[in-house]
Amino acid sequence: MANFVFVTGGVLSSVGKGITTSSIGKMLQTRGYKVTTIKIDPYVNVDAGTMNPYIHGEVYVTDDGGETDLDLGGYERFLNLNLPKVNNITTGQIYQTIISKERRGDFLGKCVQIVPHITNEIKRRIRLVAKQSKVDIVLVECGGTVGDMEGLPFLEAIRQMRLEDGFANTLYVHVALVPILDVTSEMKTKPLQHSVNELRRIGIQPDIVVARCRKMIDLEALRKIALFGTIPENAVFCSYKVSTIYQVPLILDEQGMGKYICKRLGIPQKRPKWNEWKRFVSSVENPHFEVKIGLVGKYAGLADSYISMNEALRHGGAACRASISIDYIKAEQFERDMTKLKLLRNYDGIFIPYGFGPRGTEGKIKAIGFARENDLPFLGICYGFQLAVVEFARNKCGLEDANSTEVNRETTNPVIDLMPEQRGVKYKGATMRLGAHKIRIKKDTLAYTLYKGEEILERHRHRWEVNQDYWNVLQKHGLIFSGESPDGKRMEILELPDKFFFFASQFHGEFKSRPSSPDPEYYGFVKACLDKKQGKTKAEF
Ligand code: GLN
Repeated sequence: MANFVFVTGGVLSSVGKGITTSSIGKMLQTRGYKVTTIKIDPYVNVDAGTMNPYIHGEVYVTDDGGETDLDLGGYERFLNLNLPKVNNITTGQIYQTIISKERRGDFLGKCVQIVPHITNEIKRRIRLVAKQSKVDIVLVECGGTVGDMEGLPFLEAIRQMRLEDGFANTLYVHVALVPILDVTSEMKTKPLQHSVNELRRIGIQPDIVVARCRKMIDLEALRKIALFGTIPENAVFCSYKVSTIYQVPLILDEQGMGKYICKRLGIPQKRPKWNEWKRFVSSVENPHFEVKIGLVGKYAGLADSYISMNEALRHGGAACRASISIDYIKAEQFERDMTKLKLLRNYDGIFIPYGFGPRGTEGKIKAIGFARENDLPFLGICYGFQLAVVEFARNKCGLEDANSTEVNRETTNPVIDLMPEQRGVKYKGATMRLGAHKIRIKKDTLAYTLYKGEEILERHRHRWEVNQDYWNVLQKHGLIFSGESPDGKRMEILELPDKFFFFASQFHGEFKSRPSSPDPEYYGFVKACLDKKQGKTKAEF
């Protein structure tokens, strides 16, 4: 039977529950335990797929095609896992199940209530993950802040799990902010005390408190947290500011958190093996080189919109001992003022990320054209791939009005068009082409050099694709499609062999990138940026 570790958050959101959850997972993994992680999102959406990335951050895509909260990406990267979509539980899913059961007559004669029907469904889903994943420990991160109205049924469900699964098999970890006052430099534990009280009012006594603070909390603050939280002093830990998030499991373990968790769950204390992790952290922290990337996008004001892409670029950087600095450049500015394009010369490479809808596309197309003509290393992902096709069609194939029908339905040269199976789709939720699909790679191409094989499995999230009617003309003018779907009906990778590095994919390599094994297209791009910057005539892989 699996043990459960529940992570709640207090005082305010974005306090680092996700990183704490991943760090607990890492401390257990390095001790040889198998873990999985669940994210509970108390919003009423069934999944994150219909939410605006500019407000909520990126939509993370799982192998099995789930459109999930970005925290799942954090877990996958930290813990080197491939999680299924059932590991993201939302209020929408719970109610959808219960209401359809009610309509079917499963509860005939009964009044359907939050307790027990909703809470039972929450517990059923958490236990299902435990059963299917066959792990030693299931980590459950409860999104939002303790006291939020939406979160109450979830907290009630995890409260009940202690009664049903036993004290020894359940652990509550509460993460809350300890602010430091500007004027007196004092660490203030009162907001944290209040959030612990709120949790207790709901019936949950935390076993461990993680204080999130700018600095390591002092002894006085620690003692106060323990005293008012009714927990031993050695169950209070501090997640202070570090130079990279990948340091967090190390600093928590140094404070004895891994040891304490094992003791409390009654599982054997094993010596953690941190070597590989420490090697990665050290290469991130001690770079020899720097690579500057210009990311030209639509959601450029919020770095979280591109979190997996940012991380994948950093993984690529760590592998070449390069620090990565990314400037988020609003694509629309190039539409108003073409002279601004020359600013792109300040970068070692140009990156065009995913995107939806017409806004900013002309600016992105101009940026791609600038990168191509000036032979700046270029990587395009999904929309970036599609718009690279549009740019090439317009400026190399003479199809002046080439476009995607997502941007202009009336274009006479729809080089990017809706996939045939998308034509009848009316519903927006979970209806794109999603998740992992196989891709066949052509030999003697850059793609083959990077992926070192003929078949790969990569994650997707799109409705449009390269229109078959234009494959010939594009290829005739020098564009190479070096990856395609195994049935040969869909183009997946493009490259321009006469350029230093010009590469784009319909899929999203970033979702499979991991700290110690960067995704090949991201690694290739960063390496090419570095090689070009160092004056090499050819990128060396
Ligand atoms: N909007 C494009 C499509 O749906 C690209 C999607 C993406 O970039 N994820 O096909």
